[in-house]
Amino acid sequence: MITTDICIVGAGPVGLFSVFEAGLLKMRCHLIDALPQVGGQLSEIYPQKPIYDIPGYPTIKAQELVDNLMAQIAPFKPTFTLGERVEKVERQPDGSLVVRTSDETEVHCQVMVIAGGLGCFEPRKPEIPDLERFEGKGVAYMVKNPEKFRDKNVVIAGGGDSALDWTAYLADVAKNVTLIHRSDSFRGAPDSAEKVFELAQHGRINLLLQSNVVGLNGNGHLKEVIVAAKDKSTTQLSSDFFIPLFGLSPKLGPIADWGLNISKSAIEVNTLDYSTNVERIYAIGDINTYPGKLKLILTGFHEAAMMCQSAFKYVYPNQHLSFKYTTVNGVNAF
Ligand SMILES: Cc1cc2nc3c(=O)[nH]c(=O)nc-3n(C[C@H](O)[C@H](O)[C@H](O)COP(=O)(O)OP(=O)(O)OC[C@H]3O[C@@H](n4cnc5c(N)ncnc54)[C@H](O)[C@@H]3O)c2cc1C
Repeated sequence: MITTDICIVGAGPVGLFSVFEAGLLKMRCHLIDALPQVGGQLSEIYPQKPIYDIPGYPTIKAQELVDNLMAQIAPFKPTFTLGERVEKVERQPDGSLVVRTSDETEVHCQVMVIAGGLGCFEPRKPEIPDLERFEGKGVAYMVKNPEKFRDKNVVIAGGGDSALDWTAYLADVAKNVTLIHRSDSFRGAPDSAEKVFELAQHGRINLLLQSNVVGLNGNGHLKEVIVAAKDKSTTQLSSDFFIPLFGLSPKLGPIADWGLNISKSAIEVNTLDYSTNVERIYAIGDINTYPGKLKLILTGFHEAAMMCQSAFKYVYPNQHLSFKYTTVNGVNAF
């Protein structure tokens, strides 16, 4: 079991900045995110978009902000569990909490902070018969660990950035990569599309355009992907893995079952310290709601600072917290 002071659900910008504010007060953090990378909406939805309303930065690209936040929190040595969804939280007799994930990771903490944004990003699933039967048995909606696909026959479907980027990446890892797309042009970045066309020209991948996956075959584990072309002719591709990459849509998911007061898919909080109705559980960033709430990164940063001042009492019940500027105490690493 992982032991920490604060368990943060969600490694978006607000979850990440919380590590800094907690670190200043000598509280350690463990972050859990259902996505395989940190950064929340910024890394998943708009990594290259410029942001203009981060104080001190006239403009900064979303991924650059995430990278800077990671550098800013590095002295406080946060630990991460990525690619796992937080499913449950259980109260211990002493009031502390145990947080459990979809992959049975357990985190014991004094305080849980939900910085879950719009909720968990869940894969958009194409309508293919038997798709769910092969989930975890050849069908994967995310590439958590590319090594899983080494020397395997992999079929990817989709036309956006994820489909293009993973096709290019796995071309060097897998035995065989086929990319299937229903159109003959791609929605993803032109540079990435160009790279995929180049790989196809050099025979490094198979590219099937104007085609759709219409069926899956296998006995226990996936063995074949059936592809239909525009003229309705079908091809059977021998495949160990099928990765449909049709984007992710956010859902509140298990957070809705933790006894928290929820209003319109957001968690109600007390604006004094962003605590929820459940003791030792706070909610900050896009996931919370209160009169006048603005879903902005800077709002979440403020909430993170206020939350940490309040959470201190659970981590250090016998100490009095007196407020000091970082220039007085410095940023003292763990
Ligand atoms: C296109 C676009 C442009 C934007 N532009 C701006 C802008 O210019 N300026 C600005 O201030 N804001 C902007 N925003 C809003 C900004 O992105 C959000 O306010 C910000 O991402 C909120 O951060 P967060 O950390 O609260 O949540 P998120 O960034 O949503 O991160 C939450 C994380 O929690 C994870 N999670 C949720 N539930 C669970 C669970 N049960 N288990 C594990 N993990 C979980 C999710 O996977 C996600 O990674 C924009 C948003 C969009 C979509």
